[in-house]
Amino acid sequence: MAIGSDPHVLVVAGSDSSGGAGIARDIETLAGFGLRTCLAVTAVTVQTHNSVEHIEHVAPDIIAAQMRAALDANEVRAIKIGMLGTTAVAEAVGSVLVKHTSIPVVLDPVLVATSGRALMARDAVETFKRVLLPLCRLVSPNLPELAFLVGGHQAGDEQEILRQAKTLLEAGARAVLVKGGHALGDHSTDFLVHPDWEPIRFEAPRLSGSVRGTGCVLASAIAAHLAIGASLEESVWRAKRLVFEQIRRTV
Ligand code: PLP
Repeated sequence: MAIGSDPHVLVVAGSDSSGGAGIARDIETLAGFGLRTCLAVTAVTVQTHNSVEHIEHVAPDIIAAQMRAALDANEVRAIKIGMLGTTAVAEAVGSVLVKHTSIPVVLDPVLVATSGRALMARDAVETFKRVLLPLCRLVSPNLPELAFLVGGHQAGDEQEILRQAKTLLEAGARAVLVKGGHALGDHSTDFLVHPDWEPIRFEAPRLSGSVRGTGCVLASAIAAHLAIGASLEESVWRAKRLVFEQIRRTV
C-alpha cells in the first residue's frame, strides 16, 4: 500500500532538541497507535531539559506550505497543533485549517516551557483565540495557560476553573479540556467543558515529580483517538489513561 493512503495525523509543532517535548514526543505517541505522522515544523528550539537556549521561528508561509503539502500527500484523519510562537504563524495556520474543516483539530496552547521561557509572543494570544479556537475541536490548556488565555489569575478552585473555561468557550472555543496538573491536592482533576454538556470530570491520584512533554503526549493521543473515530469524550478519557500510565512508569 502507498504510504499516502495510510491514516495520518498532521502535527503542526516545534522541535525540541532535548527530545523532552515537541515533535519527537508527538511522533512517538502517534506511532504507538500505529498511525503515521506528517509534519509542519513551526519552530526549531535549542533546549536541554532545564532551559530553552534558542528559538528559530519558521516563516509563516513555509508553515502553511508544509501543511498544504502534507494534506495533499496523505490521508489526514486528525491534526494536532502545538507550538506556534507568533501572531503571523497563528494566522497562517488558520488560513489552511479553514479549508479543511471536516478534519478534527486538537490545539495544545504551548505558551511557556516548564523551564520558564515564553514559547508564544504575548501579542499572539488575541489572534490565537479569534482565528484558531473556532477551527479546533478541542483546546487543552493547563491552569496557567487557561489563565493567560482569559487574562486572569490562575484559578484556585473548581468554580473558578469552570468559569474561566466558560469564558474561553464564549471566546470561540468549541470544547475545552482543562488540565489540573498545576493545582494542589492529592488528586489531579481535569475538566472537559463543552457548550452542550455538563462539565465532565476526570480524576486521578496526583503523582509526584515533574515529567516533560505530557501536554504534547496528551494532545497527540487525543488526536490519535479522534483519527481512529472515537468520540471526543472517549478520546480524552483514553488519552488521559495513557499519560497517567506513562507518568507512573517515569516518576
Ligand atoms: N518546547 C516545545 C517545542 C514544545 O512543543 C513544548 C510543549 O509542547 C515545550 C517546549 C514545553 O514542554 P515542557 O513544558 O515539557 O518544557
